[in-house]
Amino acid sequence: MKGVPLIRLDIGNPSSKRKVVIIGRQHPPETTGSMALMRFIESVVADSEQARSFREAFHLVVMPLLNPDGVDAGHWRHNLGHVDLNRDWNAFAQPETRAVRDQILALKEQGRLFLMLDFHSTFRDVFYTQPDEAASSPPNFTVRWLAGIRRRVPGYTAERSASPTPTPTTSTYWAHHTFGIPAITYEIGDNTDRTLLKRVAHAAAEEMMELLVEMKDEK
Ligand SMILES: [Zn+2]
Repeated sequence: MKGVPLIRLDIGNPSSKRKVVIIGRQHPPETTGSMALMRFIESVVADSEQARSFREAFHLVVMPLLNPDGVDAGHWRHNLGHVDLNRDWNAFAQPETRAVRDQILALKEQGRLFLMLDFHSTFRDVFYTQPDEAASSPPNFTVRWLAGIRRRVPGYTAERSASPTPTPTTSTYWAHHTFGIPAITYEIGDNTDRTLLKRVAHAAAEEMMELLVEMKDEK
């Protein structure tokens, strides 16, 4: 809105038809969400066999800062248009949400979307997901992913909230509703221990890569 560009990172194989989208920082003060996003991406770009296999098979698009003006201005929830961007994913009245939507729609034209993650912060760690009975493709990703995070971080509950009546104006509602993909809001507590934040983000990325490589040719 002030003309500050939104950053987009392309990781992996851009000519792959298998697409994954990660977004973050719709809400300015949610710094732990940004930290978790950065830690997550560290694992995806790591020099490990798993990460190399993932990057060969998938094209990951990361838009880590959707509200740069709000961050600069020190806003609490809003962009410069006085709108909570994560309540604008039906009206698309704001330039930020329109720009990101258009990037995602263009990716869809190039192949198949597998997953969207949206990083936030709140009072505690919680993953907002679709309920298991909501059809999504690939199927069972969410339940397996959260189980994998718990397995990789012993003692971590990986709390899940799966409302049958989600807020219909959020990014994840839009992505699930439009594409039928699992679309998950990854919330990290404002005061979550930073070592735990990093362990969980690495575990979440590694489990995502393992599952998606396994599911890459499934319907
Ligand atoms: Zn938020």
